[in-house]
Amino acid sequence: MLDVGRHPNIELMAYSEVEEVSGDIGRFSVKVRKKARFVDEDKCTGCGACAEKCPTQVPDAFNEGFAKRSAIYSWFAQGIPSTHTIDPEHCRQLQGKKCGVCKKVCQADAVDYEQKDKVVDLEVGAIVVATGYDVFDPSLIPEYRYQEIDNVITAIELERLLSASGPTGGHLYRPSDFKAKEAVPQLEKSLKKLTKTLERFEKKFQKDSAQFYESFTSGKKDDDPDKVKWAETYEQKKEVSEKLSQYKAMVEKMDVAKRLAFIQCVGSRDIRFYPFCSGYCCMHSIKEAIIANEHEPETTSVIFGMDIRAVGKGFEEYKIRGADHSSISYVRARVAEINELPDKSPVVVYEDTLERRVKEDPFDLVILATACVPNKGTQELAQILGVELDRFGFFKTSQANPVDTTRPGIFVCGCAENPMDIPESVAQASAAAARAAQVMVEKEMKKAS
Ligand SMILES: Cc1cc2nc3c(=O)[nH]c(=O)nc-3n(C[C@H](O)[C@H](O)[C@H](O)COP(=O)(O)OP(=O)(O)OC[C@H]3O[C@@H](n4cnc5c(N)ncnc54)[C@H](O)[C@@H]3O)c2cc1C
Ligand code: SF4
Ligand code: SF4
Repeated sequence: MLDVGRHPNIELMAYSEVEEVSGDIGRFSVKVRKKARFVDEDKCTGCGACAEKCPTQVPDAFNEGFAKRSAIYSWFAQGIPSTHTIDPEHCRQLQGKKCGVCKKVCQADAVDYEQKDKVVDLEVGAIVVATGYDVFDPSLIPEYRYQEIDNVITAIELERLLSASGPTGGHLYRPSDFKAKEAVPQLEKSLKKLTKTLERFEKKFQKDSAQFYESFTSGKKDDDPDKVKWAETYEQKKEVSEKLSQYKAMVEKMDVAKRLAFIQCVGSRDIRFYPFCSGYCCMHSIKEAIIANEHEPETTSVIFGMDIRAVGKGFEEYKIRGADHSSISYVRARVAEINELPDKSPVVVYEDTLERRVKEDPFDLVILATACVPNKGTQELAQILGVELDRFGFFKTSQANPVDTTRPGIFVCGCAENPMDIPESVAQASAAAARAAQVMVEKEMKKAS
């Protein structure tokens, strides 16, 4: 990526969107909206002083919501250009409230709250679409209880948890545990506030709160607003105390997840959703299980799948290495449902099709290998480009010309065309670039003749 940023023949237009395409092969006119960052890319040094001081914190989408970021932020550390961007939906200043902190701390004078979108016109001979994919939303499979059970996560979420620069510094803590850890200070604060309110009532009525609550709830109905409030506060305090003790116990026992279950084909090879194989997920589950074992050698993983599709040079050997050296077991099964134990451990219910038995096994963490699906903006982009999509919503190509879209001069590569892994995407990108170059060469030859 750094090479692309430095290449004299490549102009990067990050944080930009194609809005209009007209013309024909060899002479397309393209309108690109360069969105306002509210930071001058040329002045910003990426020092991060603004993000450090920004008072607004929101869930960090790059870290799958497991961490927070400021309203002025960089999408990820190695991004090109190395610049910060203000998120206008959350920035206090841009929402019309008083702030201006980032502008004050920026020594490069890069912050510009008045910056506007720019529309740039380009003349190009050919276009290559490389807009990638989205992952399937596993909450569409209710039996897997994603977002209901904290310790059922997706493979992308696991990638962030295993990353040394991720929200847990690469330690595979369970979301239920670190959510509890984060909640403790807030609960302690609430408890303090509720205790103070109860003390005020105790002083006023010269009675202990527990005694008052017992008589209030067992005696005749009393509508005195102060007493109603006192009883409500007492109940709230009880609830918060119980939650706080439960969370403190969880934090005390907090340890990295050591029993992992990977569930394959979540949304893929499933006629209710996408009948195709997403191609790369068997291998990324094996990779993630191997990395988890490298981080913590006691970690064991079970990969549940109809079969493991290790299709590629050295892939089968990698799969076997996972079993022999990284404590991975492969179970041929379609998982039926996931339940949860009181200690927040997910339980996988499945039919072991080789033993022909229904089984239930508890784990620390369950990871869903979600299908590769068309990017959310694909339909709109296809309309702008005037190209067709296939029946699943990926850019349509033909088997004879796998990088040619239905419009001459517009090519496609990577997961925008079809699910594929990185080496395949790179190979296809080279093919698409070669096809685009061919258009330009033919144009030059025509001009010369
Ligand atoms: C959990 C997980 C782990 C994986 N691990 C591996 C692995 O270890 N090895 C491997 O080979 N593969 C792995 N893969 C697969 C890999 O992610 C894909 O093969 C690869 O990302 C495809 O590259 P791409 O360039 O086609 O798409 P993407 O990587 O999705 O890139 C597309 C880019 O286009 C941008 N974009 C989208 N729409 C627009 C628009 N309208 N205008 C401008 N920009 C736009 C997106 O923001 C994105 O930056 C993994 C996948 C998952 C889900
Ligand atoms: S905007 Fe200013 S303070 Fe923020 S990263 Fe860029 S140079 Fe640093
Ligand atoms: S690669 Fe594996 S997990 Fe992914 S869809 Fe194909 S068989 Fe299922």
